[in-house]
Amino acid sequence: MPQTDLKMTDALFYQVAVQSPLRRLFDYLPPANARSTLAPGVRVTVPFGKREVTGIIVSNTLSSGYPLDKLKPITTVLDDAPLIPPILFDVLLWAARYYQHPIGDVLASALPTVLRKGGDLPQQSFWRLSTHGKGLPNDALSRAPKQQALLQLLQQHDSLSRESLAAADISTPTLRSLLKKELIESFTTTASHPAFNINGELALLAEPPLSLSNDQQAALQQVEFHAYNSYLMDGETGSGKTEVYLQAITTVLRHYRQALVLIPEINLSPQTLARFQARFNCPIVLIHSGLSERQRLDAWWAAASGSAGIIIGTRSAAFVPMKSPGIIIVDEEHDSSFKQQEGFRYSARDVAVMRASRENIPLLLGSATPSLESLYNCEQGRYRHLIIKGRHGGAVQPEWQLVDIRHSQLNTGFSQIVIEAISTQLAQGNQILVFLNRRGFAPTLMCHDCGWVANCKHCDAHLTVHTQRPGLHCHHCESRQALPPTCPDCSSMQLNYLGQGTERSEATLQALFPTATVHRVDRDSTGSKHAMEELMQEVSKNEPCILVGTQMLAKGHHFPGVALVVVLDADTSLFSTDFRALEKMGQLITQVAGRAGRGAKPGKVMIQSHHCEHPVFELLSQHSYAKFAQHILRERQFSAMPPFANAALIRAEFHQGGEALGLLQKARIYLESQMPSSPTMRYLGPFPAALEKRGGRYRYQLTLIGTERRTLHTLLERLCRWLEQEKSARKVRWSIDVDPQDTI
Ligand code: ADP
Ligand code: ZN
Ligand code: ZN
Repeated sequence: MPQTDLKMTDALFYQVAVQSPLRRLFDYLPPANARSTLAPGVRVTVPFGKREVTGIIVSNTLSSGYPLDKLKPITTVLDDAPLIPPILFDVLLWAARYYQHPIGDVLASALPTVLRKGGDLPQQSFWRLSTHGKGLPNDALSRAPKQQALLQLLQQHDSLSRESLAAADISTPTLRSLLKKELIESFTTTASHPAFNINGELALLAEPPLSLSNDQQAALQQVEFHAYNSYLMDGETGSGKTEVYLQAITTVLRHYRQALVLIPEINLSPQTLARFQARFNCPIVLIHSGLSERQRLDAWWAAASGSAGIIIGTRSAAFVPMKSPGIIIVDEEHDSSFKQQEGFRYSARDVAVMRASRENIPLLLGSATPSLESLYNCEQGRYRHLIIKGRHGGAVQPEWQLVDIRHSQLNTGFSQIVIEAISTQLAQGNQILVFLNRRGFAPTLMCHDCGWVANCKHCDAHLTVHTQRPGLHCHHCESRQALPPTCPDCSSMQLNYLGQGTERSEATLQALFPTATVHRVDRDSTGSKHAMEELMQEVSKNEPCILVGTQMLAKGHHFPGVALVVVLDADTSLFSTDFRALEKMGQLITQVAGRAGRGAKPGKVMIQSHHCEHPVFELLSQHSYAKFAQHILRERQFSAMPPFANAALIRAEFHQGGEALGLLQKARIYLESQMPSSPTMRYLGPFPAALEKRGGRYRYQLTLIGTERRTLHTLLERLCRWLEQEKSARKVRWSIDVDPQDTI
């Protein structure tokens, strides 16, 4: 945006972003008595309809499409300087265009709630001498030594913060006495902590770095610190990727630059932070959804003002301003939690790529099971592929066993072979991990006499039986009801639980092994804040036990004592309508398997399936996620699906299905009129969503798949404009999802 410093501000209009569902900016006149031009990124308050709202200056122009008498002036200017630095601001504008999302909402994602609502940056209070105080000689107050000390201190410094005075042993009563004598006064101003300080090597590092293996060394040496490049660091869990991050960050900090580390929500364990704190003396801040508004503001400001050297955060931290960014690291880059699934549907990983490139700094993506997108980017030469082989310390690969459960008698989901294996491991004093990606007791409640099934009133889904908080729960709309004592249709007492969830597996294991300790790990059992921490402490004692749980077990946590991993049901993903289901299954199984035998003990992985001959199991069991990934990458190429093409989903939902479907049918006609369907631009649907009815709304989707990114985006932009003026789109809730994670 050209910034002309106009003297005649009355010829200037500001384009302001406010939080509204409209994909446009709003024109305002300069505020009364404006002296200089307001820069993009400055917050203002403006009249908006009947309200007064906080907005952000995006640009200024010399002409407005609106008549002058319709325009109102900006009410107040909230900031002297933009809160969002120019490069990040550009990235946000790019993201709004790329994800077709209203700009006000996108810009808001770079600010903590307090600032979004027009609040102040963190304030700090200071003390200084009053005019009267300044007139005193430095030997005044000699009869009160403490007061004299304070006087002398403030004579030496213009002002001192509360903290520095406390550090100099000045007590509150002393401050009060001088205040009463009107010798000193206090004032508040924006907190400004000094940029993090590294006094030479010793002061920066709190512990010596490990000496790197050849692969780690080679990976680190490839990283160029003064230019943009994306690197995919591909190494199994335990291969030492984190150590490479730590050493790359060391280099960055030595150049007085900051490091941003993005991690999946689930990995945000105290251990992660502890590992960074053990290595570095510089301030580290955490940014995640569990912070209070106040904590979030402080962490944000530490990053933005440059006082924090390392910022560790989940998805939303991709937009946190930094004073002097030096590197961005995305750990577990394949993790689907980096994609926001509602509202502003961005991918934090992809935003990080764009941000690093605009900042001209390196981006390090790490994973034991890289996404097909990133592997494809390596094939295309866009990313550099850094491979770290083997586990650190040479722990041996787990042995794989595919357990064919066709025709076999299962004991509530467990085959005899698996039960025996668990028994053997327990006898040897080992830990066992049982993985089942379904929480609750049983996914279906059915009447044996009439076939009645407990369904959710609001969704096309069965209700899940839960025993922990007893009742029937819907996993899609969160509605709950009591367990019926008898069948509501025929009053039979014969209500059967079909299938199994983690609660039932826990009960089964406890019944099979009455003396063993069984821990369940899922969203229900780890609800309280410290539950997971306590469990991890318990498990780290290395006593024999069985852990049974959902994908929470597969991510983030280290279980060095686990000698056997059991995957109870590997089949569900083989027949899913989600085109990424196989990729996700392979990642999950590889990650779960990666938990086995991490300590000194060799591990074993047992996978129960009705389809053991499926090629993906064969490839995975050869310890080759890479070969597995190649296999499905070629399948995607064959069917011209992402990453070989670019996809976008248009979703529509309404409590009457006809309206939502009708809108998408019209949208398709519009799209075809703009660009007839062809092999380079395909339209699929509209079709019902995988769960057609959810939370009382009927849901449909229309998919666009284009080989040319630019063409797809031009089309999406036009479609957005069309949807915004289309009458039938007003009551239907619609959204656009670029690079969708789930079903196409
Ligand atoms: P990843 O991030 O790939 O899972 P980590 O960096 O956490 O791997 O390393 C796994 C374990 O190996 C950690 O306990 C770590 O301290 C150790 N480790 C990693 N690199 C080295 C090294 N070069 N020398 C000694 N130990 C190492
Ligand atoms: Zn019945
Ligand atoms: Zn429901």
